[in-house]
Amino acid sequence: QHAAFRTDLSVLLDQVGTGKESLSFMKRRIRRLAQQWATAANHLDAKLEQRWRDQKKILIHVGFLTEESGDVFSPKVLKGGPLGEMVQWADILTALHVLGHNLKISMSVKELQGFLGVPPGRGSCPLTGPLPFDLIYTDYHGLQQMKQHMGLSLKKHKCHVRVIDTFGTEPAYNHEEYATLHGYRTNWGYWNLNARQYMTMFPHTPDNSFMGFVSEELNETEKRSIQQNKVNNMAVVYGKEASMWKQGKEGFLQILHRYMEVHGTVYYETQRPPEVPAFVKNHGLLPQHELQQLLRKAKLFIGFGFPYEGPAPLEAIANGCIFLQPKFHPPHSSLNHEFFRGKPTSREVSSQHPYAEQYIGKPHVMTVDYNNSLEFDSAIREIMRTKVEPYLPYEYTCEGMLERVHAYIQHQDFCAPDPAFIPANLSKQGSAGALGWASNVTAPPAWPPLSSLRLLVSQEGQSCVEACQSAGFICEPAHFRFINNKEALLEVQCEVVDSEINHILPAFSVVRQECGLQREPLLFSCAGHSPKYRRLCPCRDFRRGQVALCRNCL
Ligand code: UDP
Repeated sequence: QHAAFRTDLSVLLDQVGTGKESLSFMKRRIRRLAQQWATAANHLDAKLEQRWRDQKKILIHVGFLTEESGDVFSPKVLKGGPLGEMVQWADILTALHVLGHNLKISMSVKELQGFLGVPPGRGSCPLTGPLPFDLIYTDYHGLQQMKQHMGLSLKKHKCHVRVIDTFGTEPAYNHEEYATLHGYRTNWGYWNLNARQYMTMFPHTPDNSFMGFVSEELNETEKRSIQQNKVNNMAVVYGKEASMWKQGKEGFLQILHRYMEVHGTVYYETQRPPEVPAFVKNHGLLPQHELQQLLRKAKLFIGFGFPYEGPAPLEAIANGCIFLQPKFHPPHSSLNHEFFRGKPTSREVSSQHPYAEQYIGKPHVMTVDYNNSLEFDSAIREIMRTKVEPYLPYEYTCEGMLERVHAYIQHQDFCAPDPAFIPANLSKQGSAGALGWASNVTAPPAWPPLSSLRLLVSQEGQSCVEACQSAGFICEPAHFRFINNKEALLEVQCEVVDSEINHILPAFSVVRQECGLQREPLLFSCAGHSPKYRRLCPCRDFRRGQVALCRNCL
């Protein structure tokens, strides 16, 4: 059946259910953005020009909100707890509904069992019949619950699963045996999925798929009126929980206060939290739409280093604020920071919000060393002088998210047998390298299309994420299978050699002066790097403002 766009969200709102603060938060958000989603649906509908879209049967099991996982988030919704995940789930639900798919939503193990048709009760009672869904969106908690309650059959059906995973999972952590043998084992990884089945909140390593969320959009009239009503000396501090304000923040808060009126939205019960200085005008935790109003007046939205990579800076920038944030020197990662410890990634986080730093940048974002009070001081003065327009990257608009999720649903297929190695007839196409095949050979169906492939060799020690980025491209893990062969390695003029199981491969070993191929397709990794290796990298082009999609990907 064809999936027709939906602009009415009432069925979805009924499906989400009631009885928890987290659900009310998500429903308020869905209602507040309804008009914006409807407009986006109409635009995308026109853009796709009646293209056939399969209607999928989709199960959405929100593991972290189930009682069985302890649901620590719901009680904190009104108390300054994390809201980013709920923002994202609300938007995923809406996007899937608007795209016209057939949804079942589960927020408990009981509902999960009901939808999957496995007998209720404890123990792993395998699902015997076919899976009644084309796709299952869940998170790490939900995956664990499905393992417990679907038993062995999860293995059989796991290609249908998509895992919403805020910070991402790198291939080395995802491969159970490899992770165990090489020190990449964590509490989360080791599911042996295709790494693109993990879907992140921001475009972190392209080994994962970028799911994202949306932010409020403004029309031209609103943009103009915001710019006219900006209060040049008004700052809002990023941090809704008092603990985010503690320790060592007084120094730069004082400097900030010399120039600006400082506002906060810190949760409190009865009294001002002691961490928040008296000169700060604290509004208490605000409902989302009131926060937006505050951001519309403010000139500066300032981060103190935590929370990492949340939605709020994008909302601030979309409402015409400049976002000022600390640079991390050295970068934070699972090796040196408590928050990231045990997360299945080695990603190095260079500032509080690397997406804002790298994808948006000046004039909307300033990333400075907060330990240098001169640098901090001059940043504040520069911000007061600078005029900016409200800005929202296309990939964080409703249309951008619909376009991306549409493309994933229609094109990503992890169930088809994956020819890990390029077929012999294709690899005989001479030594022109992968670029050569792209133009003159009918490749096996690939998405992104093979025409988007650009083969590059990294510097010593550099990952493919960096190598592709520095050439204006993005690493595309789906293309690894086309460059994991002798012909592609001719680019580096090396003796080829064996294939091994190592997430750095395919690569050239500088020490041994030889090349190695990858033997385990699950370990193809954009993120991998190692000091004495030059990696062979499958890069691709991307659309402006929609890094998840190549130019011919729609
Ligand atoms: N937020 C809110 N009221 C406030 C402060 C924040 O509703 O007073 C919302 C904000 O609009 C954003 C969400 O909380 O969408 C998550 O914000 P944050 O970036 O702090 O990420 P988190 O750490 O909560 O995941």
